[in-house]
Amino acid sequence: MYDVVIIGGGPAGLTAGLYAARGKLKTLIIEKEMVGGQIKNTSEIANYPGAIEGDSGSSLTMRMLEQAKSFGAIKVNDDIIEMDLEGKVKKIKGKNDEYEAKSVILATGANPRLMNVPGEEEFAGKGVSYCVTCDGPFFQDLETFVIGGGDSAVEEAGQLSKFAKKVTIVHRRDELRAAKSIQEDAFNNEKIEFMWDTVVKEIKGEGLLKTIVFENVKTGEETVVNASEEDGMMGIFVYVGFIPSTEIFKDHIELENGYIKANENMETNIDGVFAAGDNRIKPLRQLVTATSDGAVAAINAEKYINRIWK
Ligand code: NAP
Repeated sequence: MYDVVIIGGGPAGLTAGLYAARGKLKTLIIEKEMVGGQIKNTSEIANYPGAIEGDSGSSLTMRMLEQAKSFGAIKVNDDIIEMDLEGKVKKIKGKNDEYEAKSVILATGANPRLMNVPGEEEFAGKGVSYCVTCDGPFFQDLETFVIGGGDSAVEEAGQLSKFAKKVTIVHRRDELRAAKSIQEDAFNNEKIEFMWDTVVKEIKGEGLLKTIVFENVKTGEETVVNASEEDGMMGIFVYVGFIPSTEIFKDHIELENGYIKANENMETNIDGVFAAGDNRIKPLRQLVTATSDGAVAAINAEKYINRIWK
């Protein structure tokens, strides 16, 4: 039996792993894909204290994993499908294996929200993308659109402008949500244009994305944009927020609007079960707050184990 099983290998989970393992707890980190969480899709980390210039989300989180492992944390790949968290021994069932633990840290993060418009699913990977870092280079010298007005949309539009011929940020209001410094970079970028008060209505093409139908939310007017003959396709990068990954434990853990309710000690409504990172209700979702949550959760998991099991 593990002392701590951490579900999720993003910054919150990896930091929980580091603190738990360094505290000599038998620690397992379970991740269903590659470690790193959402930040692995960020090409350059600028606002994490002490970040090295040019450090990407994936390189930083790979180092976090190695650091946790160096203290004895074990990482496995598995997709969790069932949990029995109420008892003293927490039971977790994955597609590959079953696990038992004295405490559990839920660090499952969040996934990109879809626009839910016709054609979005059909053209995913054929012009529709949710990750500039992953797919930006495929759009070298092509016309592209970034949907959303938050930090992610505006920051990633800047990154995309390094490859694309043109980047149009399409926002449903007439004012960006992104931080002022991020906005300034976009306003000063010659390759970036803006379409205000506009949403995507439909995405069309033949194999590849060739046509986007936009709608002005104030006037109802439609604008149809077609890829030029020469280009043959164009790109849409969707950054309209994220949805917390809490579906698998929604019947056990108290949630609000899909986010876990946890206190300052990262304790959930179930004894011995903690939350950390973007899946919980919190005022600021950043790398620095995710790692902080992970540390707090691990320290409190240790206190819980000392209290209940010794
Ligand atoms: P976000 O802040 O939730 O912004 C989502 C954007 O998408 C908003 O502009 C929203 O419009 C728009 N939107 C939502 N649903 C839409 C829909 N169905 N159709 C069209 N537009 C839609 O998400 P985010 O930018 O991914 O950021 C998530 C968190 O990560 C935030 O806390 C952010 O500060 C943080 N983050 C920080 C950094 C950084 O500090 N460098 C970088 C990336 C992310 P409205 O504005 O009208 O609501």
